[in-house]
Amino acid sequence: MAFENLANKLQNVFKKLRGKGKLTEKDIKDAMREVRLALLEADVNFKVVKDFIDRVSEKCIGAEVLESLTPAQHVIKIVRDELTELMGSTQSKLNLSAGSPFILMMVGLQGSGKTTTAAKIGGYLKKQGKHPLLVACDIYRPAAIKQLQVVGDKLGIPVFSMGQNISPVDIAKASIGAAKKGGNDVIIIDTAGRLHIDEEMMQELKDIKSEVRPHEILLVVDAMTGQDAVNIAKNFNEQLGIDGIVMTKLDGDTRGGAALSVKAVTGKPIKFAGIGEKLEDIEPFYPDRMASRILG
Ligand code: GDP
Repeated sequence: MAFENLANKLQNVFKKLRGKGKLTEKDIKDAMREVRLALLEADVNFKVVKDFIDRVSEKCIGAEVLESLTPAQHVIKIVRDELTELMGSTQSKLNLSAGSPFILMMVGLQGSGKTTTAAKIGGYLKKQGKHPLLVACDIYRPAAIKQLQVVGDKLGIPVFSMGQNISPVDIAKASIGAAKKGGNDVIIIDTAGRLHIDEEMMQELKDIKSEVRPHEILLVVDAMTGQDAVNIAKNFNEQLGIDGIVMTKLDGDTRGGAALSVKAVTGKPIKFAGIGEKLEDIEPFYPDRMASRILG
């Protein structure tokens, strides 16, 4: 599970601190050096680590911590609060009341888990009483349309597709009428991904965005790709503009560096975490719970 290695290392650092009783400034500096290394080994972005350690050190070296009877507890609380803040402080929800139908556009590179995640979010919203419509706009891979239909069927969610010979912009536009007719209050558009970011893909996404005016754009990235995922998010945000991130495959990511860096680097929150291959393996991303998982 995500953060396994980091959690082990940080818990060791704090165990040592707890064993010391009163703490000196040097104890805190030593501990911070170990925290810094642990974060770097977890593949957290270098600059994010530096800022994090600076903030935590400044707070920890305050008199309150050094004079406290339980200084280690104070240090742990400061680290917990800063880790939570780093991941976005509070849960970022979809702003479902932004429109009816609410239009959600899913973007991401091929293999990131975009199609699966589109369906997972559909299933998650259906459980909350919504009536989603999945829209197949990846016209380049016949398998993608089929895949969406298969997962839609499994979840009992309708899938809107117009085959491969119509432009994704037109399909997305037509889906709004279809949703209104079918009584669907949420539209989830699955767009085409490529292996790498290229201009053609980005242009197509921009066209869909400007013609369909989605209420939110969620970028799907694979946690296991570490800082690549962060760079991809930065790039998508700069070129297209995104509202949030879905971090997939956290179940297989023992490091957690992408999840810890992406909010600080892009300014955009992680809204959902993918935690397995099954269609119910998705959960809202709670920064405080993640921080607790790391600190035990
Ligand atoms: P797309 O090309 O971005 O549409 O990616 P897919 O939706 O086809 O997913 C690619 C692979 O990743 C599939 O085998 C999915 O089952 C798998 N996958 C997606 N999300 C997760 C996740 O959160 N955890 C795990 N373990 N696998 C996932």
